Amino acid sequence: MRKIQMVDLTGQYQEIRDEIRKAFDGILESAAFINGPEVRAFQEELESYLGIKHVIPCANGTDALQIAMMGLGLKPGDEVITADFTFAATVEVIALLGLTPVLVDVDPDTFNIDTEAVRKAITPKTKAIVPVHLFGQCSDMETLLDIARENDLFLIEDNAQAIGANYRFRDGRTQKAGTLGHVGATSFFPSKNLGAYGDGGAIFTDDDALAHHIRGIVNHGMYQRYYHDVVGVNSRLDSLQAAVLRAKLPHLDGYCEKRRNAARHYNRAFEGHDGITVPTTVRQCEGICDTCDCHVFHQYTLRIADGKRDALASRLTEAGIPHGIYYPVPLHRQKAYADVRYKESDFAVTNQLSEEVISLPMHTELDGEQLDYICRTVLEFMEQAEPMGGME
Ligand SMILES: *Cc1c(COP(=O)(O)O)cnc(C)c1O
Repeated sequence: MRKIQMVDLTGQYQEIRDEIRKAFDGILESAAFINGPEVRAFQEELESYLGIKHVIPCANGTDALQIAMMGLGLKPGDEVITADFTFAATVEVIALLGLTPVLVDVDPDTFNIDTEAVRKAITPKTKAIVPVHLFGQCSDMETLLDIARENDLFLIEDNAQAIGANYRFRDGRTQKAGTLGHVGATSFFPSKNLGAYGDGGAIFTDDDALAHHIRGIVNHGMYQRYYHDVVGVNSRLDSLQAAVLRAKLPHLDGYCEKRRNAARHYNRAFEGHDGITVPTTVRQCEGICDTCDCHVFHQYTLRIADGKRDALASRLTEAGIPHGIYYPVPLHRQKAYADVRYKESDFAVTNQLSEEVISLPMHTELDGEQLDYICRTVLEFMEQAEPMGGME
């Protein structure tokens, strides 16, 4: 059996190797490293893939979130509601801009922001909601769009983990993740579903004026060379990364399908097993499409009951199976983001998830033998760890 990796990008590289080497040669010969034709071409190809008017490439996903908030004109003191259960980048940029992060609990099935908790957290100072499409599946955007409309709030999608996912409205209409709110932000970190060979990110919007504003912000606030109309940042995608992303974009749907296949393999093994909760896919498309493309499984995350998660993690390590705990500490309990206004009882779900979640290897190169070995190892552990005198 091949050694199991948490993320394995070797197979993807073999598939696009010649294309990438040729593009790299061209860039090296032309020395168009920044804002060259590759970046422009990638931007247009991603716009057409997503069905959105504007993609603004930038240096990474964290910048993309920050720039989106700057573009919307959020000001110190404005409150921004986001999920307690996410990677810290989401709340980091809110705090960095002097905005007030307001963390709320998540849904126990989807791990995504709890829309009722969002409603309760709204105050006269609230200006925006940042749903994070965690692990590859959209938040309940239909409800969030209603809440944003009713309360005149911006909706900023953190789409770092769900690029390629579809969102299906109750009337059957579909739209790509990241294109549903006022603005979307994504990351091309190598391990993301559409990953570069270094850092990269992008901002999406259908709003012409906002797009124009943001194109200036990413480039030192310049709309005309050496005239600085607004305070900006330096955040750009380089040509080498754009070439990698151009080569990979046509394969993105295929990559997502491979991830879903691995997820189905895991689900078949674990579904209905005591003490294991498999990830929930919201079947918005029930009865509409045969194969659900609403989840792109950036991570495949189980919940392990009865305090056995850490022992399972040790067992997997012994068995040579990499795994991840995303995320071990809810943001409201991080030193940097703790706030006297937070009550532990408001975070019952994230507190529990942080003790129960474990993510298994998930990438496009997992084969049946590896998946079987991982499933067998998990199931054997769960059976041994069960009290004596079970049904078996
Ligand atoms: C990866 C990630 C980011 C940050 O992206 P970088 O490109 O690493 O800056 C932001 N939010 C979430 C949810 C992520 O998973």
